[in-house]
Amino acid sequence: MHILILGGTAEARLLADRLAALGHDVTTSLAGRTQNPVLPAGTIRMGGFGGATGLDHYLRDGQFDFLVDATHPYAARISDNAVTAAASSGVPLLRLMRPQWRPAAAQKWVDLASAEDAARFLTSGARVLLTTGHTGLEHFLMRSDCRFFVRVIEPPDTAIPHHAELIVSRPPYGLAAEAHLLDRHGITHLVSKNSGGTQTAAKLEAARRAGVEVVMIARPPYRPAPEVSSVEEALDVLTGRSRS
Ligand code: NAP
Repeated sequence: MHILILGGTAEARLLADRLAALGHDVTTSLAGRTQNPVLPAGTIRMGGFGGATGLDHYLRDGQFDFLVDATHPYAARISDNAVTAAASSGVPLLRLMRPQWRPAAAQKWVDLASAEDAARFLTSGARVLLTTGHTGLEHFLMRSDCRFFVRVIEPPDTAIPHHAELIVSRPPYGLAAEAHLLDRHGITHLVSKNSGGTQTAAKLEAARRAGVEVVMIARPPYRPAPEVSSVEEALDVLTGRSRS
């Protein structure tokens, strides 16, 4: 089978490796934002398609049998384009979406709809570990009455003001290191997306143990599409495999 995977996640990489090992012809598409990304097996293409129309043409020209949207849960635009392009090209779509994180028993998170709302919610004097990436950073940095520790994989283009400092690092992160980070910077609030998965989940348990308030920014809405929540389930659907 000829399969196009919209990637940029660990799951997309694993799925491509598994499908290639089974002898399928897999192409992974990356937005091209990360320098030196870890690449999966199969063919790689980089950069935007030019919207849903560009993706439609790419699917038709490449005579793909399946489109898998394995992008990050917060990559809303490409996922929306995938729904449109799958419908117009007639190529079946499968969405691979990680389950959301849930608070531990007796733990409460503040759930908010946007970075803007989260920035507004913070109390003056808060010391914030910000793990929401580059999107919406400007809303937080306007809060000069708070101190921000901005963890990013790649530094943003924007200037970082005096009341913020960058922590440039790459997941996975372990519990002991996360606990140390919260303690070292006297963190009072953790602002996070509900990314799901295991690579960055330790911060939530570290926050719970340290009594740090968790502010969770909700996932964007998605149009309906056939969806699975794990690489194994995706393999079942794509290969017609049944599990007993
Ligand atoms: P986005 O806002 O949904 O997409 C913006 C535009 O970037 C899309 O319209 C598309 O351009 C292009 N694009 C995005 N993903 C692509 C892909 N896999 N292959 C080709 N073009 C792609 O996406 P985003 O939030 O910027 O995320 C970009 C990439 O980073 C995705 O692959 C995602 O899986 C990964 N990522 C995102 C996050 C996050 O928090 N958003 C976190 C970790 C990894 P055209 O319209 O021109 O096709």
